[in-house]
Amino acid sequence: MEEDVTVKPLTLRIQDLNPHIVCSLCAGYFIDATTITECLHTFCKSCIVKYLQTRKHCPSCNVKVHETQPLLKLKLDIVMQDIVYKLVPRLYEKEQARQKIFYQTRGLHLGHVRPDRSAEQSFDQLARPAPTLHRGHFYCFDKQVSLRIEPSSNDAELPKILQKFVRCPVRTRALQLEKLLRRKLLLPPTRELEILCSGMVLDQDTPMKKLMVITAYDEKEDIPILLNYRLKKQ
Ligand SMILES: [Zn+2]
Ligand SMILES: [Zn+2]
Repeated sequence: MEEDVTVKPLTLRIQDLNPHIVCSLCAGYFIDATTITECLHTFCKSCIVKYLQTRKHCPSCNVKVHETQPLLKLKLDIVMQDIVYKLVPRLYEKEQARQKIFYQTRGLHLGHVRPDRSAEQSFDQLARPAPTLHRGHFYCFDKQVSLRIEPSSNDAELPKILQKFVRCPVRTRALQLEKLLRRKLLLPPTRELEILCSGMVLDQDTPMKKLMVITAYDEKEDIPILLNYRLKKQ
């Protein structure tokens, strides 16, 4: 793969990233990161599900999440969770060990029963198979697509991201990628990014699956889809 050696790598300290990857409800790193679709604030899944059982507003910004079924406004943020596991050493292993003990002490088998089944019944869109203990297969329940992410050539203001090759589930939406990029580039929330594919600005709701169709992505060849990003004009 080509590698641009002239680019200065972005150096990040974990304490600078912490505000973006720590759950404000439990003060721990996100576990099963879950985002409120109304305001895009993220929490651990179990923390926000429990919180919204008795309340209707986002704990961070107080936006009303929903009148009667707030859980319908939550989405698992797989991209974010992947970032957290990549950034925080041994978090994944610790969480796996914790889950294993949780299941064992209840005489259950990991991979068959999830601990918070009751909370999930009205929570279908978050349902996914329980993670197995094989790290390499953690997200394999979902088809993946390869992306190559570069700054738009006419936006000299923007740095390149260090890791420009990304694999993500096909249902990842442009909005999630934009959030990931904003975090990687340490952009303030006031600066929005546009993501482009083949010169076309993507709607935030566009899933990567759609780009596979547009660009005639070949799963066997797996040549990454080129995406560009640029600052949205203010
Ligand atoms: Zn939490
Ligand atoms: Zn919020």
